[in-house]
Amino acid sequence: MKSGIAGFSGGTLTCACVYKPVRVAVKGNVAHNHACGCTKCWKPEGAKFSIVAVVPHENITVLENGDKLAVVDHSALIQRHACKDCGVHMYGPVQRDHAFKGLDFIHPERFQENGWAEPGFSAFVSSIIEAGVDPSEMDGVRARLMELGLEPYDCLSPALMDYLAAWTARKTGMLTR
Ligand SMILES: [Zn+2]
Ligand SMILES: [Zn+2]
Repeated sequence: MKSGIAGFSGGTLTCACVYKPVRVAVKGNVAHNHACGCTKCWKPEGAKFSIVAVVPHENITVLENGDKLAVVDHSALIQRHACKDCGVHMYGPVQRDHAFKGLDFIHPERFQENGWAEPGFSAFVSSIIEAGVDPSEMDGVRARLMELGLEPYDCLSPALMDYLAAWTARKTGMLTR
């Protein structure tokens, strides 16, 4: 867990391939960086959580070997573009009508540079059971996340859940500002 550096201005994400790695430029810092326990996000071999954050879609540019990218699941909200050779997810735009539309999900640990905003919470913690973790381990997992300063939530953080609900409320007219 490294702290971010104020004013981090972006960098280059690379996949895990030694030969012809996919490189993606990201302009600016990441937002809402967090640990995610869902079964959809890419994570390194053996890891229980992925590290995932968002950036505006226009800040993403594929620099090299974009022909190796394929969308993992076309029906998913997040169109995760993964390297066909090593499996690393390089960026995942949200294109459908949704509160997160216009944002791309990326994995900051793939930055070649240091300094990106560190994770601030953990999401979908209970979902690691779906990936094979024994339910009896969960107290320990949550305690460790608290120790790391990654307050555990079983969906997204309250701020993001409020953001999603407000988007829906504006759509239905329940909220007019
Ligand atoms: Zn690769
Ligand atoms: Zn996830």
